[in-house]
Amino acid sequence: MSQSHNLPRGARLYKFMEARTRFTIALVSAFALVCSHAVAQNVNANGNDNRNDEVSVIQISDTHLGDKHAPHAADSLRQAVRMINDLHPDAVILSGDIGGNPQAWEEAKSILKKLKSSLYYVPGNHDVHSQDVERYRQAFGKDYYEFQVKFVNFVVIDSQLLGNYDTYEAKSPVPLPAQTEDESERMLSWLNGLQEGQRASKKVVIGVQHIPVFPDGRFPDPKPYWVISEPYRSQEMKVLRKLGIKHMLVGHWHNGRVFEREGITWHVAPATSWLPWGGELGFAVHAISSNGSVQTEFVALPGALP
Ligand SMILES: [Zn+2]
Repeated sequence: MSQSHNLPRGARLYKFMEARTRFTIALVSAFALVCSHAVAQNVNANGNDNRNDEVSVIQISDTHLGDKHAPHAADSLRQAVRMINDLHPDAVILSGDIGGNPQAWEEAKSILKKLKSSLYYVPGNHDVHSQDVERYRQAFGKDYYEFQVKFVNFVVIDSQLLGNYDTYEAKSPVPLPAQTEDESERMLSWLNGLQEGQRASKKVVIGVQHIPVFPDGRFPDPKPYWVISEPYRSQEMKVLRKLGIKHMLVGHWHNGRVFEREGITWHVAPATSWLPWGGELGFAVHAISSNGSVQTEFVALPGALP
């Protein structure tokens, strides 16, 4: 079977269209989403919900509040929040790199308080470094956990417990300090323990983490900074397969794209903050069907400055 048959519609859009065209189409689709929600709301008023066969999740990523690379990060995030509120998703996920320090986190939280949908935080490598996961936990609660939206179980993974991402320029993977290695083992045994419950529930299971496990071909570049390296890569892939995960929502690359690797479709959300690899600032809209398929479209932030 050709690989492209396994790809969601959003992936084909990405593969065959220029970024600008794709984003325009995403905007049209986003408008369609708003309209279909308006219809659903009317139906809800009559006591029926015909949207139970689909979950709509919006993924924001790499908001980087307080980062010198992104002087307009707060304005762009405010813009994203306004746009997302008009789309009425079932849930919003922020897939990491919220801000570089607790003060930036507070600013992000105060902007994100305006979201009308439930928001789920995921830590990135600018939030959790190799030795400071406790600081994140004090501000946000758990760095790895499960949550449910209708028929979908989301499994949030702390990718910073699966490698040391403190050194951007490192040419080979840097080991984790011993205490974080213990944290890593605890998270992996928690993940392995989820198996039975997930299989029995017959729900759709989607994984979320900041750092993608694999590169997309040669993108971004060969630095270990961009992906999960061994031995964690194999350990994670084994448990993702056991959990029946076919779709992973990730960030970290600041470049919206969808690709398939080793039986999993990787949905990389664009950043709202800055563009080291070109492309456009924006967020991802995921439509998840009860059969487990995920369609991803990217929505640009019109006029937003990196
Ligand atoms: Zn990152």
